Amino acid sequence: MPYDDLLSRAHAHALDYLNALPERRVGSTATRDELMAALRTPLSGPGEAPEAVLDLLASQAPRGAVACNSPRYFGFVIGGATPVSLAADWLVSTWDQNAGIYVISPLVAVVEEVAGDWLLDLFDLPRDSGVGFVTGCQMANLTCLAAARHGVLRRVGWDVEIDGLQGAPRINVVASAESHITIDVALRYLGLGTKCIQRVESDAQGRMKPDALRAKLATLEGPTIVCAQAGNVNTGAFDPLREIGEACNAHGAWLHIDGAFGLWARASASSERRALIDGVELADSWATDAHKWLNVPYDCGVALVKSREDHRAAMTTAAAYLIQTQGVERDAVDWVPDFSRRARGVPTYANLRALGRDGIADLVDGLCARARQMAQGLAAEQGVAILADVVLNQVLVRFGDDDELTRRVVTGVQQEGTCWLSGTNWQGKAAMRISVSNWATSEEDAARSVAAILGVWRQVRG
Ligand SMILES: *Cc1c(COP(=O)(O)O)cnc(C)c1O
Repeated sequence: MPYDDLLSRAHAHALDYLNALPERRVGSTATRDELMAALRTPLSGPGEAPEAVLDLLASQAPRGAVACNSPRYFGFVIGGATPVSLAADWLVSTWDQNAGIYVISPLVAVVEEVAGDWLLDLFDLPRDSGVGFVTGCQMANLTCLAAARHGVLRRVGWDVEIDGLQGAPRINVVASAESHITIDVALRYLGLGTKCIQRVESDAQGRMKPDALRAKLATLEGPTIVCAQAGNVNTGAFDPLREIGEACNAHGAWLHIDGAFGLWARASASSERRALIDGVELADSWATDAHKWLNVPYDCGVALVKSREDHRAAMTTAAAYLIQTQGVERDAVDWVPDFSRRARGVPTYANLRALGRDGIADLVDGLCARARQMAQGLAAEQGVAILADVVLNQVLVRFGDDDELTRRVVTGVQQEGTCWLSGTNWQGKAAMRISVSNWATSEEDAARSVAAILGVWRQVRG
């Protein structure tokens, strides 16, 4: 078998990488020049031994890759793959299925259909919603907003899939001042542009002000899409979704919710935490990620749309040579922008099934507890301030109430290597941004990271 040696090697390299993960420096160590020196070569005529190519790539990973699946990586919002989801992902590559249509992979079509049903159940959203497994929340936002564009124009008698946007009724787009940048990008891809976005003010935590939304809606007529969010990328704050949902329903506006990581609060065992996201079911579409809070390997996002008809109409593909099902079998091409695609719903299925409701609740609540632990540990030190309420897995920290000092602590922590995090700007102030998103982050990892951050702060403070 030509596979034996290569796959055993890959297996050994993978275990070396994973076994080193908990204790290795979290940042990368090699510069671009060093990586180029190791990896760049003229493409050879005869090719090279596959074993040697694999060994070379593996040799550069410990120095060239940031350990973003380390239990002490707190940058951006990045999950680490759980063992079962990583193992399932290996199978996905092994099977090499084109998961676009049922005829090519009945297995994947069924697995993704079941995983989609589980997600709707877990989030307690309308069970007959459309589901699409996409590459990430960016594409989930795009898919949902394409369905929204179709839906709001259909209601005024315009078929945007056939007639496009030229000469179409104008669509009002409303979003909070704090909406994620991928909403803007989705609107660009959809031909709506970003100038059309009417911003609604947010409060000090980054939550959309419902009074301001109601006042805005009162000025609008015709097709309207409102974008709210569950989980602000800096603070983790939730827009007041019940009030927003009721206002949108009363106005007849399509409500889309970006819940890239925040939607998972719906799976919490804590009623206090679930209350943050109360009313999310009033929306028309929801975008989320599996590669963030669910901790499956990159890449997997999920688009959920209440109206299956609008979702399907916005995405469906038909061509003479495609054998598409006429029955209950599910063709993924009807629900996502991709044509050929990876069976990316499979690791999600494996992880949901292995964790169960209780395991998912523990995952959600555990990361929130670690975030609170880090916030408390940091706030106890002189000169350290937490800038926003810690309601989820995100913590914003400011040092010496000073932009320059705060940036120096962020850079210092990245260089020190115990953990990795990045900075942001929160309402005009520089801040350190901690996102606890990895299933493997233990209380001890959180405590070690707090100690490392405070060590750097004491040095900077002098
Ligand atoms: C991460 C994130 C996105 C984009 O998700 P990708 O998976 O990176 O495409 C969108 N919205 C919010 C709130 C996010 O945190």
